[in-house]
Amino acid sequence: MTLAPSLTQKPLQDTHGRTIKYLRISVTDRCDLRCRYCMSEQMTFLPRAKLLSLEEIAIIAERFIARGVTKIRLSGGEPLVRRDVAELVQRLGHNIGSGLEELTMTTNGTRLAQHAEAMVDAGIRRVNVSMDSRDPERFRYITRHGDVAQVIGGIYAARDAGLAIKINMVALKGFNEDEIAPMLAWCRDEGFDLSLIETMPLGAIDEDRTDRFLPLTKVFDELGQQFTLARDAHKTGGPARYWNVDGTRTRLGLISPLTANFCEGCNRVRLTTEGKLYMCLGHDDQVDLKAALREGGTAGLDEAIDAGLFAKPKAHDFRIGQGEGPAVARHMSVTGG
Ligand code: SAM
Ligand code: SF4
Repeated sequence: MTLAPSLTQKPLQDTHGRTIKYLRISVTDRCDLRCRYCMSEQMTFLPRAKLLSLEEIAIIAERFIARGVTKIRLSGGEPLVRRDVAELVQRLGHNIGSGLEELTMTTNGTRLAQHAEAMVDAGIRRVNVSMDSRDPERFRYITRHGDVAQVIGGIYAARDAGLAIKINMVALKGFNEDEIAPMLAWCRDEGFDLSLIETMPLGAIDEDRTDRFLPLTKVFDELGQQFTLARDAHKTGGPARYWNVDGTRTRLGLISPLTANFCEGCNRVRLTTEGKLYMCLGHDDQVDLKAALREGGTAGLDEAIDAGLFAKPKAHDFRIGQGEGPAVARHMSVTGG
């Protein structure tokens, strides 16, 4: 498909004065793990016929780049289970330096060892790897069948290939509270960053998230007694705040959408593997970019993107508590965490 000359190069601005510079793409809703806070054991995934092709993902991504997006993160589901993901990474990588400043990925790490070198060759410099526990039994429990040795092997392979690593860890009451400080010490010693995440009410799972909710305000106070944490001005336009750890280059990030909402600085939108553009993780407002592209080409795409941005909500309204259901029916794996 060739692109028609662009009809609009308008920067991506929403009605709350925020400029969109960051696109997250869920390249598949499928996953080889079943983390308990993310998915239920029996998930129904999208039929392959409904998915965007690699070419369509690239066209949409490149349209966002032409309109001012400088950062793209590939996520999922598990991005590395998509068969043509290496090709996609390579294709998107060609945009680095021509508008795109950074291409990154969030992965569960199970297949990172096989992909790390190709990712570096394509221009990826950093990855986020999710690992909620380094204990084999606990890891198997939370993922329902995962092997943590495989993930740790993937992390070291990625580091050896030249990728900077950030570990994502969802803080879960009664599960990994006692592992947070050791995880931070490990990250500091290995030269990795660590982001702690509050469990968010997205999609139905097989348990009540209230039982596992751990406010990061409490976690942070406890970490402050064991580590020297200095506020770091680093900003991604996301819901995270950052601290430097013990005077090293290791950065601790807190993603705390429940206890501290930073929606006013939000600079991102999210594309699903089905071609829907979601303006907010916690709202159902979306536009269908797959239909727009197939029916209207680039002009249709621009029109749909503008309509979406016009409707970008001011903030999410996550609540976790007895009697509160999920904020939206979509799982994080659909919108791309
Ligand atoms: N499969 C990849 C992975 O696990 O890194 C990428 C997709 S996953 C949905 C992205 C991130 O979202 C992971 O760090 C995961 O722990 C987090 N996540 C998933 N469901 C969540 C939820 N309900 N609340 C908070 N974080 C969640
Ligand atoms: Fe899969 Fe990532 Fe969800 Fe875990 S958090 S089930 S690895 S998509």
